[in-house]
Amino acid sequence: MPEQPNRRPVARGECPSCGLSYALKADGTMRRHHGMTLAGFSTGEPCPGVGKPPSTAP
Ligand SMILES: [Zn+2]
Repeated sequence: MPEQPNRRPVARGECPSCGLSYALKADGTMRRHHGMTLAGFSTGEPCPGVGKPPSTAP
């Protein structure tokens, strides 16, 4: 039976800008994602919360 590679659980956090949960980068900041309008549509532009720490620490 082959050994399974160690898989680190991906840390997730709530974006301080759009409030959605995204994966965090290795440095603990929000991974790049698009912003979301109030109607729930993608703005097509990087969210202002990208590169900032999540609003809820794991
Ligand atoms: Zn965001």
